[in-house]
Amino acid sequence: MQFCTRCVYASAHPLGLTFDAGGVCSGCRIHEEKTSLDWSARRNKLEEIFCAHRNRSGANYDCIIPVSGARDSYFIVHTVKEKFGMNPLLVTYNKHYNTKMGIRNLAYLRTIFDCDLFTMTLAPQRVQQITRATLRTMGSMYWHALAGQTVWPVQVAVRLKIPLIVWGEHQGIDQVGMFSHKDAVEMTRKYRKEHDLMGWEAEDLVGIEGLTIEDVKPFMYPHDLELSRVGVRGIYLGNFIPWDTKRQHEEMIAKYGYETRELTRTFDSYNDVDCFHYSDIHDWIKFVKCGYGRVTDHAARELRWGRLSREDAINLIETHEQRRPESRQLFFDWVGMTEAEFTNCIEQFRDLKLWEQSDGGWRMRDHVREHASGPRVAAARLPVTGSCKFLVSASRAPEEQDDAQVLIGRGWADRFPAAPYVRNLPSTSASD
Ligand SMILES: [Zn+2]
Repeated sequence: MQFCTRCVYASAHPLGLTFDAGGVCSGCRIHEEKTSLDWSARRNKLEEIFCAHRNRSGANYDCIIPVSGARDSYFIVHTVKEKFGMNPLLVTYNKHYNTKMGIRNLAYLRTIFDCDLFTMTLAPQRVQQITRATLRTMGSMYWHALAGQTVWPVQVAVRLKIPLIVWGEHQGIDQVGMFSHKDAVEMTRKYRKEHDLMGWEAEDLVGIEGLTIEDVKPFMYPHDLELSRVGVRGIYLGNFIPWDTKRQHEEMIAKYGYETRELTRTFDSYNDVDCFHYSDIHDWIKFVKCGYGRVTDHAARELRWGRLSREDAINLIETHEQRRPESRQLFFDWVGMTEAEFTNCIEQFRDLKLWEQSDGGWRMRDHVREHASGPRVAAARLPVTGSCKFLVSASRAPEEQDDAQVLIGRGWADRFPAAPYVRNLPSTSASD
């Protein structure tokens, strides 16, 4: 395995990395564009795109912004509405793994910015059924959330005839430099399937765990003809603004009181505060399958911004990546699986090129700690000029404990664990 001589990424990164003669990865090289491109010209380009999509009659929204209770949602809405004066429709897919903080952040987002919000909430039992299927077929408990949040905005664009969708960063650019900012990459069905959905379209799940085409319809990408009829396009703000999620979140904390909290498996307390499982059991699965967790993504990003040394990045990775997920039991109860069933699902996807058995457990064959120094590392090193301190901002509801996942946010179903409820459904209810 090859490790970047600058950041902490390895060649095993599932999005793919290339390395130059000095051993510096494509993600690090593309990151350099953030300080070298003419960003004011890019901002003008963004203004042109917005201008072309302003709904002059006032009969419809100007664009769609996919949001959640975290992940730069505040910054994107702030930029599009406050800085560029667009009238966006916010859309969100309810991932069912919500924290109360995420629900609060989302509620305040729409009231602070005075925006309409269009939410897709599927029946909890359908989400459970799909999650059991994706755990068995691809070892993922997060497929439905990824599929839902990448398709619901596109479906709304088609249905309400709002052609422009504004996303935040593009992961392929920001993490691994799959494309340059100069490529002006836009949203595609192909990238979604290959990377966001791990190669699995919704249709591929039919027949597994008894799923029918009706069950997976909410996750199906609109037909090309429908997209072209409306002229749907999705742009990434990261191609027009040098994307710095830490700085952006801190601006949103100071300006709007965006709420943050400490997470189990990473030091970034800003990005994934809305989800019980993303930085917890989902990230544990990623570690088993891919040999690294979110903490490595965050350490690579902060190192590239000159806010973390290689040594401190490796220390942070070692502190967080082995931590056992705290939300395990919560998730097993919800999905209706025992820990043994869950482990069976995940273990078949452990990458044996990365892991070997040792003393009855698993050991990584290679690790970035073995590549901490050397002449090539010294040559690629960036000076540390900033601080990597992440804040925990004040909560608007300090009395509320985030101790159970919130399924819908407000409503009857939240008071009941969904799995036993589904099992106890009366068999004949037609006369009710
Ligand atoms: Zn790198």
